[in-house]
Amino acid sequence: MKLKYNPKTCLSCEEISCLTNCQYLNLSSYEAKVEIEKIARGEYSSLLKDCVACYACEEYCRYGNHPFFRIVELQELHNVEVAPKNVVEELINKYKAEGEFKPKKVDKGVLHICLFPELKERVQSRLFEGLTVVRGRHVFCNLIYLHLGKISVIKERAKKVIENISSLGVNEVVFFHDECYAFYTTFAEAYGIEVPFKPIHLFEYLYNKLKELKDEIKELNVKVAYQRPCSNRLIPETDKVLDKLFKLIGVERVERKYDRENSLCCGAGLKLQGRDKLAEEVQRKNLDDIVKSNAEIVVFNCPMCYATLSKAVKELGLKPYLVSDLCRIAIGEQVS
Ligand code: SF4
Ligand code: SF4
Repeated sequence: MKLKYNPKTCLSCEEISCLTNCQYLNLSSYEAKVEIEKIARGEYSSLLKDCVACYACEEYCRYGNHPFFRIVELQELHNVEVAPKNVVEELINKYKAEGEFKPKKVDKGVLHICLFPELKERVQSRLFEGLTVVRGRHVFCNLIYLHLGKISVIKERAKKVIENISSLGVNEVVFFHDECYAFYTTFAEAYGIEVPFKPIHLFEYLYNKLKELKDEIKELNVKVAYQRPCSNRLIPETDKVLDKLFKLIGVERVERKYDRENSLCCGAGLKLQGRDKLAEEVQRKNLDDIVKSNAEIVVFNCPMCYATLSKAVKELGLKPYLVSDLCRIAIGEQVS
């Protein structure tokens, strides 16, 4: 399982947009060139310890050369401690699947909700009618270890996770969490991993479902600030689908400094790494920006971002919702 990374592409690259756009490293063009050359040659670079795993350079590289996956490979190779050792070990054990996977009986299709138990209730909706909900460690993609400099754990567990999902016997799987969808698309492609079913992103699924229910949609006419998650950097094409989805339900995504390519982390990944001060700083910048945007609602897709920021959003007098909640409201469902 080898990363499709071409060092020559980086060595001859003139833009180095991966690093010059990085919101955390603050490198000049010259410094970016020096550091990316070390990365291309597989050498130690100080950026291996300074990278906060926001995933953004995957989106900034116009050549699909996977700079962030390369960084995580090298963090492990050079024994860089991205997070406190005990935290990493604890999480590696916590998400390890024990025992055999017992596949559920599936009628129409599968909705995969990652590890989030809180989503079980939130997907009790006509929007997801007929889909069998699947969650848990046996079907967990393990991409969280990208935040912890442990790409080997993801690779070791990949085959079994894909086998487990395949045992459900479906041709398509709807993924709620960006990170999971990114595993079966971008990550699998980068490592040449075969995926024997079609991954469907939540936004695409919701857009198509709402088009079927078009006559029941009551446009919401609200201005929302969107908190784009780090894992969406791996699948930027889905962000355009979100725009279509918002349009369909009458939602205006307000312009704000920290959205789209300039999105900022919710802080959860930084806290995992023990970067508490930076996490607070980033959250403050994000929340100040949300306030300035004059949005009425703050929308999340990542349940982890929601869990991290929703309390602070409420304290600002704004309502936090998941994208799927907004879609439910648009068809007249009650959302708590
Ligand atoms: S990762 Fe992409 S943007 Fe960065 S130096 Fe390599 S080719 Fe250029
Ligand atoms: S993952 Fe984020 S912090 Fe790390 S190098 Fe890429 S853009 Fe910078």
